[in-house]
Amino acid sequence: MTCGSIDPKCAKCRLSKGRTHVVAGVGRCASKIIFVGEAPGKDEDLKGEPFVGRAGRILNSALEDAGSRREEIYITNIVKCRPPNNRRPRKDEVEACRQYISSEIERIRPAVVCALGQTVAQGLFGKKGKMADIAGRPFEAEIFGRKVTAIVAYHPAACLYRRDKTKAFKDSIRKSLELAGVA
Ligand code: URA
Repeated sequence: MTCGSIDPKCAKCRLSKGRTHVVAGVGRCASKIIFVGEAPGKDEDLKGEPFVGRAGRILNSALEDAGSRREEIYITNIVKCRPPNNRRPRKDEVEACRQYISSEIERIRPAVVCALGQTVAQGLFGKKGKMADIAGRPFEAEIFGRKVTAIVAYHPAACLYRRDKTKAFKDSIRKSLELAGVA
């Protein structure tokens, strides 16, 4: 289920031209935690659901290892349309899409927000720095006027080409679920 209001015909930025679907978040609107990825990839664009491809399988496995499941939490992206060739979303695309993540967070009112990867850490919390320094270290943040516990995890796709990041990724997912009281 999607929480918050998303326009399936949105044309606020250039990404609308190449997409198949606007990919809104899925999960429980009553979730205490929200996981925020970067942007849909090919599988997500075709299916209209976030994290259903290879990165999604890694995220699912981390959630399951920590005793949770994707149906029990909420998963979304900071940008709702697929960038060409899976490039990183640009700053103006993140800005154009901001009202949608804002509406999801207003509706869900999470206690914990987990940013998956550096682009999201910066786009949501203005957090800069190397992932090695910021991943897995919770901090207090204000987001769209709401105080939350924030945590940054490696993006699950990073584990596809850097297997040595898998443990740190899974530890951050577990920690974020524990902070939200759901693991
Ligand atoms: N990567 C993301 O950041 N989001 C998705 O939905 C899929 C892959």
